[in-house]
Amino acid sequence: MLFDKFQSMASFQADLAERDIAPFGAVTEQILSATEGTVQGKKVILAGTNNYLGMSCDPRCIRAAQQAAEQWGTGTTGSRLANGSFTEHQALETEIADFYGVDHAIVFSTGYSATMGMCATLAGPGETILLDGDSHASIYSGVKQSGAEIIRFKHNNPEDLAKRMRRLGDRAGNALIIAEGIYSMLGDVAPLKEIAAVKREYGGYLLVDEAHSMGVLGQTGRGAAQAAGVEDDVDFSVGTFSKSLGSIGGFCVSRHPELEAIRYCISAYIFTASSSPSVVASTREALRIITAQPELREKLWDNARHLYAGLKALGLGVGPSASPVVAVEMEDRPATIQGWQALLDAGVYVNLVVPPASPSTNFLLRNSVSAAHSSAQIDTIIAAYAGLIENGVITSDKTA
Ligand code: PMP
Repeated sequence: MLFDKFQSMASFQADLAERDIAPFGAVTEQILSATEGTVQGKKVILAGTNNYLGMSCDPRCIRAAQQAAEQWGTGTTGSRLANGSFTEHQALETEIADFYGVDHAIVFSTGYSATMGMCATLAGPGETILLDGDSHASIYSGVKQSGAEIIRFKHNNPEDLAKRMRRLGDRAGNALIIAEGIYSMLGDVAPLKEIAAVKREYGGYLLVDEAHSMGVLGQTGRGAAQAAGVEDDVDFSVGTFSKSLGSIGGFCVSRHPELEAIRYCISAYIFTASSSPSVVASTREALRIITAQPELREKLWDNARHLYAGLKALGLGVGPSASPVVAVEMEDRPATIQGWQALLDAGVYVNLVVPPASPSTNFLLRNSVSAAHSSAQIDTIIAAYAGLIENGVITSDKTA
């Protein structure tokens, strides 16, 4: 039967509903600010967004969106290849290319379609893609569509990548290597310096998904490749407008002029409506703000270090170093769900992450901080975790 394969998900949902828990797709009833909202009728601190620089509620971005909607209407009602290319889309492409210091950019309607579209199109049958084993779903989805040979290397392991490139022999020079900047679930940064060195030794092309690292890492916020000093080794940077820029949409930038031809070969670009003008306008404004205010990035990192240190001091498993994504490792699925609900009851909204959304077999309470969080809010989040440990809802290495 067509529906048999969904049975285990249906019983999982039924079990959660019986216990009155709704961790997936919990509905936000009100947004009060970039860091506060109401969920299940309760005012909560939002500690599970990707609103790294607080741009979603910046009054300047809101005003830009309002003005654009008045000037252009609410949607483009068409693809970029048909009626949906407005001067606004072209301006954003020029600005995002300038931000990265390159000449070519494509703007997509979502980050997912940017990453998936590039991964699906760059390599094809008879060619080879090497990707980090913990890659995001959009990367997996793209490479599956590509028809290329797919080789996974161990997560954040340049030696394993080198071994696999060596095995390719002559074909290594044409291979596409794919890595992310910051990995979304554990918050760990890719060793791009070492990955770039492998590419330099064996040849090939490098695509980096900077979805979680744009605006977050690097001297001017271009991401992990800039922070590692290897931008010249990166052939394609892809990313999203839905995180540090607070809107929605995605991009690919490149110094290769071929990107202009590639544009017309990407299904995820051709066969979908372009971003609405209000989205483009708020994205442009956010890009301008994060460029003009690097102190936002400093505040983000202060908050990241604050939360990481606080949760680590409680004896929680939070990974090896501070990052704007602080993932608390949990024992199993029931403990993770119970912890998530208890945090919500304590007024803190975080992300519940269980396989297959998490890498390997991790069960996680994923916290993400924003430059918009106050220091007092970070203290409240830490105190909520302390309360959970005290009540025996979660265990720390001090209580285990
Ligand atoms: N790439 C990575 C690495 C991501 O984490 C995400 C979103 N979580 C995306 C792409 C897709 O971006 P968007 O949600 O803006 O479509």
